Amino acid sequence: MDQLVEQNLKTVRQQMELACIASGRHMDDVKLLLATKTVPLDKLHQAIQAGEALFGENKAQELRDKFPLMQQHKQVEWHFIGHLQTNKVKDVVKYVTLIHSVDRLKLGQALHQQLTKENKSMDILVQINTSYEESKFGASPETALELVEQLCQFDTLKIKGLMTIGKLNATSEETRDCFRLLKKVQAQIKDRNYPQVEMDTLSMGMSGDFKVAIEEGATIIRVGTSVFGQRYLPDSYYWNENMRGDD
Ligand SMILES: *Cc1c(COP(=O)(O)O)cnc(C)c1O
Repeated sequence: MDQLVEQNLKTVRQQMELACIASGRHMDDVKLLLATKTVPLDKLHQAIQAGEALFGENKAQELRDKFPLMQQHKQVEWHFIGHLQTNKVKDVVKYVTLIHSVDRLKLGQALHQQLTKENKSMDILVQINTSYEESKFGASPETALELVEQLCQFDTLKIKGLMTIGKLNATSEETRDCFRLLKKVQAQIKDRNYPQVEMDTLSMGMSGDFKVAIEEGATIIRVGTSVFGQRYLPDSYYWNENMRGDD
């Protein structure tokens, strides 16, 4: 069997540990989420065999494709990390335990409607565009507080924290600024003491910048390429501004 995924996982976990030690944090306080967009099932199997149990998908269709695998491995938890269109809410709510990418009121509304129908609640993170890049989804840091306040009206949504994609192809200091900004927004929201809002989860850091993210307080890092290798589809397919427009 191909050992590459297992080896890569070892390397990533070692790097995580070093970053934790360097910043005086505990390994248990940082979760590794494997970003599995475009990754074939056999590689997912290898990750599960190696003991991994937290995966993140970007598209409802890909979640659906992986449903048999989910049935087979009940211990595995799935999160949604991609741009979520309101017409896909139903599928996503069915499969995942945490949605990282709630970035607008309309999406909150659609989620609330569906969850109410199903008599369920859902843990969510609010996605913030800390790099101010046009191509990224997420609420602006300036409107984050207002959005959280508006989302509070939906009692089916349990707000657990914030998510961001750091500036890509940037220096580590520029990326660090993104993560610090997310932390600052977190503090501002915490200060308000909104009932039912917890702000303990910070989802930030990817293959290129997870060490910096851990140093800056990430509690979930989302790693794809470092574990599974290069993807055959460019990320613009998943988070380009061309995908805007459903609402
Ligand atoms: C693909 C993706 C990741 C992982 O990116 P890598 O650079 O491959 O580690 C993390 N977060 C989101 C939202 C993604 O879409």
